[in-house]
Amino acid sequence: LEILFESSADTAHLEDPFPTLLDRRELIPLQAGVFSYQGGFLQTIEVLDAIFRYHALEMGAIEQSFGTTLPLRSLFENGYLGAFSHQALFVAPLQRRLSEIRRLAEAKTPEEKAGILAQTIDDHGQVLSPVVCYHCFETLRGSCLSLDGSLFTACARCHRRESEHESLVRLQTFLMREVIFFGRDTWVDSVRMNLIAHLRDLLLEWGIRFRIVTAYDPFFAGGHNKRLYQSYFSVKYECQLLLPHIQQWVAVASFNNHHTTLTRAYKICGLSGSPIHSGCVGYGYERLAYGLYCQLGSDLGTWPEALRSHLIPARG
Ligand code: ATP
Ligand code: ZN
Ligand code: MG
Repeated sequence: LEILFESSADTAHLEDPFPTLLDRRELIPLQAGVFSYQGGFLQTIEVLDAIFRYHALEMGAIEQSFGTTLPLRSLFENGYLGAFSHQALFVAPLQRRLSEIRRLAEAKTPEEKAGILAQTIDDHGQVLSPVVCYHCFETLRGSCLSLDGSLFTACARCHRRESEHESLVRLQTFLMREVIFFGRDTWVDSVRMNLIAHLRDLLLEWGIRFRIVTAYDPFFAGGHNKRLYQSYFSVKYECQLLLPHIQQWVAVASFNNHHTTLTRAYKICGLSGSPIHSGCVGYGYERLAYGLYCQLGSDLGTWPEALRSHLIPARG
C-alpha cells in the first residue's frame, strides 16, 4: 500500500454514530446489509450526489440511468465471474410450469412456500448489478468512440454478497455514482487525476482526515493471471476516510484505469477501429456519509460551513 496523499486534519475521538442513526430512524434495517434511509443521513447522501453529479456534468459527462439487473453474459465476458464470483447475486424466476406456479400460490405456510420455491427456481440468467459501469459498457457495446475522449455518469444501487455485512461499511445493497470515461491512455489518466484532485480539495475544505492510496485489487491478486496482475498493479487508487472510533481507514471512492480490458470485452473501439482506453471513478455514498458522521458527529448543525451550506439550503 502506497500513500500518495494524507491530510493532517485532527479528528476528535467520537463515538460510533451507528446506534444514534438507528435510534433516530435515519437508518432502518431490513436484513443483513440492507437499510432504508430517512432524515439527515438521506439528506447527506443527496447532497453528496448533487456535488459529484454537478462536477461530472460540468466536465461534459452524459448522464445515464440504468435498470437493476444485468444479463449474465455481461459478467461472463468482463471477467467478474472469474475474480468476484463469490460476490454475485443472481436473479431467477420460477420455471414456466403451471402446476408448480399453482402449487406455490396455494401453499399455506411460509415453510411450504419455501420448499416449493427450492424446487421450482429456474435458470439464473440475470444478476443484480455489482457496479455502475458495466451498464454503461453495455450501452456502448460494439460501438466506436472518439479517441479525443467522452464521459458518462450514472448513480445506481449496487449489490454484492460480502463475506460479512458490517454495519454501513460493508453493505449488500449500496448507492454509488460512477463517472466512466473513454479515450487515449494519457487522457483517461488525466481525467482520473482530475477527479482525485476534486475529491481531495473537497475533503480538505471540509477538514476531513483522509488519504489517497494505491489499492491492492483482489482481481489482480488471485494469482490466476500473473502477467495481468503485474502489468496492472496500481491501476486502482482509493480515497480512504479514517473512522476515528475504531482507528480504521475505509475506502469511500475508487479511481480505476481499465486500460483496454473492458473496452475489449465489450468490443468498444476508437473511430478508426483502434483500441480505446477506459477508466471509472466510483463514489460509495453510504461509506462517505458514514465517514462524515464518524468524523463530524451526528449533529449536522455543527458540520463545517462549507459542507453545511450545501446541506441546508440558505433561506430568506
Ligand atoms: P473494498 O476493498 O472495501 O471491498 P472495493 O474495492 O470492493 O472496496 P470498489 O469495487 O472499488 O470497492 O467500489 C467503489 C466504492 O464503492 C468503494 O470505494 C466503496 O466506497 C463502495 N463500496 C464497495 N463495496 C461496498 C459495500 N459492500 N458496501 C458499501 N459500499 C461499498
Ligand atoms: Zn466502474
Ligand atoms: Mg470489495
